[in-house]
Amino acid sequence: MDKDQARGKETEGMSEWKQRPPYRIHESNDNFDARYEASCHCGKVKYQLSREEPLDSKLCHCTTCQTQHAAPFQWAAIFHKEDISFTNGHHDLEWYDPTDKSIEHKLPCKVRCSFCHSPIMDEGRNMILLFPSLVHFKNDQDKANFKPRCHMFYGQRVMDIPDGLPKWSGLNNESDLIEDSPPELVKQTERKREEERAKRFEKGENK
Ligand SMILES: [Zn+2]
Ligand SMILES: [Zn+2]
Repeated sequence: MDKDQARGKETEGMSEWKQRPPYRIHESNDNFDARYEASCHCGKVKYQLSREEPLDSKLCHCTTCQTQHAAPFQWAAIFHKEDISFTNGHHDLEWYDPTDKSIEHKLPCKVRCSFCHSPIMDEGRNMILLFPSLVHFKNDQDKANFKPRCHMFYGQRVMDIPDGLPKWSGLNNESDLIEDSPPELVKQTERKREEERAKRFEKGENK
């Protein structure tokens, strides 16, 4: 893909990426149920989410997130690519691949507003990692749906967060647990959480 195409300035036809999730525009007759609204800092990029609860929500302490977000850690929520619908500015995005430091659109990549440069999401091959800080939560329950469920890359942290959540030294479920995450407690917590999630799923509340 050439640079202009990657930047959405192609001269011939629609870029392929514009027609696929997460960038495909949802029409009003799409049955897209907008439960959340979100926007970047300048407001040029706006999107809606249809899923009530993210597939996962976590705090990442890796040094790439620290640098990319200029923050001690990053808060990310995982969604399917079909769960998002951009309503504004989604063709004015910029991409960055931290692996080879290129700005082409290839997966996985980091996505920002091309005007105010707010991080919008990490686009993976199958999923997207959104940043809930951009979502306009209307009440405490909305916010609770996005509550972080674990810390990852806690081994690279710049500060301790004694909140009782599971803390993984690297990727969650694939690395060692650290300090205030006794494995038995984490197992109990995870089991209880999954039971509750399964119950809500049965009741059809976990869409
Ligand atoms: Zn912006
Ligand atoms: Zn990270």
